[in-house]
Amino acid sequence: MKKSDFIIIGAGIVGLATALKLLKAKPELKITILEKENRLGKHQTGNNSGVIHSGIYYKPGSSKARNCRIGYEQLLKFCNQNQIDYKLTGKIIVAANQNEEIALNEIYNRGVKNGLEKLKFLSNK
Ligand SMILES: Cc1cc2nc3c(=O)[nH]c(=O)nc-3n(C[C@H](O)[C@H](O)[C@H](O)COP(=O)(O)OP(=O)(O)OC[C@H]3O[C@@H](n4cnc5c(N)ncnc54)[C@H](O)[C@@H]3O)c2cc1C
Repeated sequence: MKKSDFIIIGAGIVGLATALKLLKAKPELKITILEKENRLGKHQTGNNSGVIHSGIYYKPGSSKARNCRIGYEQLLKFCNQNQIDYKLTGKIIVAANQNEEIALNEIYNRGVKNGLEKLKFLSNK
């Protein structure tokens, strides 16, 4: 009977990225990935909006904010190394009233604290 050091259930991006990280750390590992579907990424991974999140919304200093920034850098590096096309289109967040303007300022400040560059305010006036 073949033995595995790790068994990962689910070949979505989380399962596959986990396997990749384990193999990069220890190439000698034997890893089995169990997938119930007949192809990879058939669920959330293959049906999401395709946005590379910047982490602008996350609370500065939180794990989400930190991991989002690290993930952003790692994803771009992975795409560059593997000739995977992507577009950094930027994002426009709109405030439609005074309350939303307050929230927009908070989002802006979060973005700055989370290390995002090139943030700027636009105006319709
Ligand atoms: C509508 C939508 C839009 C999104 N947009 C974005 C976005 O723009 N940017 C972004 O970064 N994130 C986005 N996300 C989130 C992102 O897609 C998920 O966080 C990510 O794909 C989760 O990956 P996963 O591997 O955990 O799950 P999945 O991709 O769902 O993979 C789980 C895998 O496990 C398999 N599985 C389940 N049970 C078993 C079992 N018992 N045995 C064997 N296999 C099993 C499934 O078949 C599946 O292949 C979006 C999510 C949704 C739903």
